[in-house]
Amino acid sequence: MIKYKLICKDCNNIFDSWFSNSKEYEKLKKRKYLNCHFCDSKKIEKTLMAPNVLNSSDFKKNDVNKIKEIKSKLREFKKFIKDNFQYVGDNFAHEARSIHYDLKKKNKAIYGKASRKEIEELKQEGIKTEEFPWIEDKEN
Ligand SMILES: [Zn+2]
Repeated sequence: MIKYKLICKDCNNIFDSWFSNSKEYEKLKKRKYLNCHFCDSKKIEKTLMAPNVLNSSDFKKNDVNKIKEIKSKLREFKKFIKDNFQYVGDNFAHEARSIHYDLKKKNKAIYGKASRKEIEELKQEGIKTEEFPWIEDKEN
């Protein structure tokens, strides 16, 4: 939705009108469907004031903030993992199994990469894993 301030060339009154987009305004104007709210004149022009676009800019700003918030949470989580877990890279499935089946290593916490298939297999063996998106440090 877009809000235009329209001005009547006959009575000089300014009023607000909503359109689904700027094209709709042009279309209605061409067909002379636009009329003054005060004197019913068809001589309506868009004022040069910047149109208000409903939600659009606020929404985007909120979105960006939300994404930033999520990313910073993921970064915190990543830091926690790095500080407390041992990185095993692509060997994750193998390492997870050896921890699971070797009681001596029971308390070792690991993290690494695993395919969906590997995660499924681990799950079937009763090995609990947690998945989360890993964000690269270079990402903003
Ligand atoms: Zn008018």
